Amino acid sequence: MMRIAILCSGGDAPGMNACLRAVVRTASTMGVEVVGVRHGYQGLLDGDFYESGDGTGVMSARSVSHIIQHGGTILRTGRCDEFRTASGVRKAADTLVANNIDGLVVIGGDGSLRGAIELGKVWSGRIVGCPGTIDNDLAGTDYTIGFLTAVATAVEAIDKLRDTAESHERLFLVEVMGRGSGYLALFTALASGAEFACIPETPTHSAQMVSDISVLKKRGKASIIVVVAEGDDDGGIEVLRGELEAEGCPYPLRSVKLGHVQRGGSPTPADRILASEAGDLAARALIDGKSGVMAGRLAGQMQLTPFAEAIAGTKTVPLEQIQLLKRMSV
Ligand code: ADP
Repeated sequence: MMRIAILCSGGDAPGMNACLRAVVRTASTMGVEVVGVRHGYQGLLDGDFYESGDGTGVMSARSVSHIIQHGGTILRTGRCDEFRTASGVRKAADTLVANNIDGLVVIGGDGSLRGAIELGKVWSGRIVGCPGTIDNDLAGTDYTIGFLTAVATAVEAIDKLRDTAESHERLFLVEVMGRGSGYLALFTALASGAEFACIPETPTHSAQMVSDISVLKKRGKASIIVVVAEGDDDGGIEVLRGELEAEGCPYPLRSVKLGHVQRGGSPTPADRILASEAGDLAARALIDGKSGVMAGRLAGQMQLTPFAEAIAGTKTVPLEQIQLLKRMSV
C-alpha cells in the first residue's frame, strides 16, 4: 500500500485544515495511507506524528471530520531552523525512509516550498505543495489559501476603525501583514474604502501624501484610512506617522497594527473551496507520480506549477488595482 505524509509549515493560514481534509479524503478514497506530521518540518526531524491512537500516525477520513470551518491547523505548524541545514534536511529524509513514506504534501508558503526543494534533493520520494499563506506571494495561483480570509478580517477591523476615525475626524494608519508583498494591503484598502495603500511595490512619498490628504480635507473628507503593508519600504508605520506629522498632515493621526488577528478565524467559503481543490489535486498528482509542483488555481483552472516558478517572486500586485484605488480616493 502506498503511504504519503502531510505537514503544515511556516505561518498558519485559514484554510490549512480544509486543505488537509481534502488530501486525507482524496488519498484514502484512492487506497493510499496518509501519515500526519505535526509541527511542520520540525515534526519530520523528531518523528512527531499525528496521534492516531494506534501509534501509526495514520489519518483516517473520519479524523478530519468537522475541521473545514476552523482556522489554524490541527497538525500544528512551525518554523524549523535545523531544517535549513544540510544535516537537518538529511535527518528529515531519514525519517521519511524509516517510515516507508513514498510521497509528501507540504502546505505552506514560499519558505516551506524552498524547504521542499531542498528535501527533494536528498530524498527519493515525491513532494507536492499547496499554497497555504495569507501573503498571496506565490505564483501559479491567483490567490493563496488564507489570503481572502485575511483580507476579510482586516476589512472588518477597518470598518470599525472608520467609525471612530470619522467621529473624531482623524487619520488612521493601519498596518497589515503580507511580508514582502503588498497584496494584502492593496486588497484590504480596496475593500474597506481606504484612501491610500502604502505597499512595497510602489515608493511612498510622505510630502506628496500630505499634499493629497490636504486636497481631500478641503473636499470635505472627515476621516482618512491609510493601509500600510508591513513590508513597505518606508521603515514601518511609526516612521511614516512621524513623517506625515512633520509634513503638516491636516488630520490628527492614530496608528494601529492589526497583527496576528489576521491569521486566525474561520476560513471564508472561497478559501474553503480553494483549499479543498488544491488538497484534492495535490493528492491526486502525488499518487499519479508527479513531484516538485504546487497545486493552485489560476484564471479559474486548477493547475500544477513547478516549485521554482511558484517561489520565483514573479507575482506582482496588479497595476490596474493600484490605479483603481487612486480613482476611488477623491
Ligand atoms: P512560509 O512557508 O510561511 O513562507 P517560512 O519562511 O518561515 O514560512 O518557512 C517555513 C520553514 O520552511 C522554515 O522554518 C524552514 O524550516 C523551512 N525553510 C524555509 N526556507 C528554507 C530553505 N531555504 N531551506 C530549507 N528550509 C527552508
